[in-house]
Formats: sequence, structure tokens, C-alpha cells
Amino acid sequence: MSDFSHSLVDQSISLADAPAEAERMIAWLQDRRIIGMTKDEDGEYRRGENFGDALTDDWRQAQSISFSLKVYTERRVFLPLENGERLHCPACGAEQMESNENWFEAVNRWHEGDDAASATCVGCGAQAPVTQWRCEAPWGFGNLGFEFNDWTLKSEFIAEFQRALGRPVVVVPCWC
Ligand SMILES: [Zn+2]
Repeated sequence: MSDFSHSLVDQSISLADAPAEAERMIAWLQDRRIIGMTKDEDGEYRRGENFGDALTDDWRQAQSISFSLKVYTERRVFLPLENGERLHCPACGAEQMESNENWFEAVNRWHEGDDAASATCVGCGAQAPVTQWRCEAPWGFGNLGFEFNDWTLKSEFIAEFQRALGRPVVVVPCWC
């Protein structure tokens, strides 16, 4: 379980506004001593003295794990748990695999700048933006993402984070 991570992705902030929002939330995390004050040589923040406040009870006891936070301020697709995650059409709910070529083609178009990039449902034929498809392990599409490596964040912390940010985040579980 040592490589489980959570990414918190802001799907609504613009690319231009992302750096300032990143700085604001880093300061919020530092103020609460969730992360330390400086970046390491990999450009990541290490855990702060109160890092346990962000973690589930199980995870808090895993003291030996090396926690870090990487912040992205770029247009990015945050991938969930790898392999075989099933996607559901937002129109009819039909299940289809992420290995669907049409899905990947649409994800690539989103990454290249098309906010409305849509995938076509194999069931009903509806075209829906990739940002609206549902998946048990959500995908994140945004210009600002906080990748907590080796952290399993508790729901109360995620709620506080969203209140401080002022917008909802998509919580992407992943193995990094
Ligand atoms: Zn459908």
C-alpha cells in the first residue's frame, strides 16, 4: 500500500489563474503544517509536522512512508487507478472501457486544448464531453492539481481543502 496517492484537481480554474491559486493553497497547507516550507530537489514539498491531520486513521500510523506533495499548474489529465476502469455514459449510463479508442482520442483532444472534447457512447451514440463521463475512479481534467504522493486523505480534510479553495475538486485515486 505504499504507493497509493490522491490527486485533488480543480477543473474550473483557468491556466492564467492557476499559479496564483497554487501559491495560495500551498500557503494554506504550510500554515496548517501539513507540508513543510521548502521544496526538495525534485520540486516537491515534504510532509510537515501536522501531516497526520490530513490522513485517514489507518494511514496516519504508517509513519515510515515518505509523503510528498507535487503541485501542477498546467493543462493535465490526471489518470486514476490503472487498468480496466469502466466509464459510464452521462446520457444513458452504458458502461464502456477506457481502452475504447474513441475515448482516448477525445482525451487527447482535451489535452491539446479543446475544452469540449467529446467521446461517443457505444450504447446510445450520444457525444458527451470527457469531463462529464462518470467512472468509479474519477479522471481529473484541469489546469491545477495537487498530487499527494503516498497519502490517503481523509474526507474531512478534502472538505476543508475545498472550502479553502472556494471550489469543488475532483478526487483522483491513483498508484504513482
Ligand atoms: Zn450512452
